[in-house]
Amino acid sequence: MSLTKEQIIEHATKAGFEDIGFTTAEPFSEHQEVLASRKKSYEWTEAAGAGLFDGTDPKRFLAGAKSIIVVVEPYYRAAFPASMVGKFGRAYQDDDRILKGGFSERFTDLLKYLADNGIESAAPFNMPHRLSAARAGLGDFGKNCFFYSHKLARQSSWVIPLPIIVDQEFAPDEPTVEVGCPEWCKNACIAACPTAALKAPRKMDPRKCIAYLSYYATDLPSPDMRERMGTWVYGCDRCQDVCPRNQPWLAQELPVNENVALKAEHFDLPSLLHMDRAYFESNVWPHMFYTSPDDIWRWHMNAARSMGNSLDTKYVADLGRGLRENADERVRRMCAWALGRLGGAQAKAALEGALERSDGKLRDEVESALAC
Ligand code: SF4
Ligand code: SF4
Repeated sequence: MSLTKEQIIEHATKAGFEDIGFTTAEPFSEHQEVLASRKKSYEWTEAAGAGLFDGTDPKRFLAGAKSIIVVVEPYYRAAFPASMVGKFGRAYQDDDRILKGGFSERFTDLLKYLADNGIESAAPFNMPHRLSAARAGLGDFGKNCFFYSHKLARQSSWVIPLPIIVDQEFAPDEPTVEVGCPEWCKNACIAACPTAALKAPRKMDPRKCIAYLSYYATDLPSPDMRERMGTWVYGCDRCQDVCPRNQPWLAQELPVNENVALKAEHFDLPSLLHMDRAYFESNVWPHMFYTSPDDIWRWHMNAARSMGNSLDTKYVADLGRGLRENADERVRRMCAWALGRLGGAQAKAALEGALERSDGKLRDEVESALAC
């Protein structure tokens, strides 16, 4: 039994996948070379379990790999609540990839349809998703490294491509692996990247990217980076927000995404700063799952930094509590930094109260905050 491209496209379209393309299962040799040439920038992602180098050869996941099917769907169909924008990457706010029903059910059904028709498949998370989609002719790249659809969401980057390796050969679509930016855009994304992670067209250093740091950092960001990371808690959309290619979609008046509006109350900054593991596992992790519950300190730390960079003094009491009570010194240090950034008499009192019970790095941080 086997399937034609048309049958797969028809089935995937009925399942709600809005664009579908096909490419070969050749290794992503150029990507391997890019990763090898920027080994220092990427080797830490291996330690974090992201396995980007392994992901460049489809045969590692499926010995009989012959083709890759790529499905693409938009993740930004409705507006996001104002309380979430600028703190959480839009790609994650309505992400139901690991929840029952929704996307995962549709995707599993597609894999089952392939299996029922004698096609073995694999869908590893560490494949180069965007490159697979461009190789399957579904879009191109921005200089900000994002994939831009040729068809969906007004040809913007607000889409997620998902590759599926299969053991049946299909005629590949014409690749569109190229930069599609207009000549007149003078690298607005690179200029707007607050941490200088975007260094040049299609060259990004993940060790400086707010998104990567928010999921995987092993320590506090350096003092120089904390203000630059702004109010982002998980992810960062800055280089997409400023892109003129995304403005046709951004300029629309869209209804608010009801799913996200319902969960927004669980994502207020004080709740994130003080949450325990049970709260995290039931309210946050199912939607934003790159950080393990064992590393909940990272969420606490990111919330504290976001509070400081909000310059909103309503957070002083919560930061004072975090400085007194959080079990992780990294979080207490960030609370001290955030109080220094907010300033004012109440923040100063909280820092002075902490000074006498602090030593080592925490004491240094409290003293620096008091000197602000
Ligand atoms: S996601 Fe944010 S930090 Fe990362 S490259 Fe884009 S603008 Fe820079
Ligand atoms: S901001 Fe300009 S250079 Fe950057 S991705 Fe968008 S169009 Fe391309």
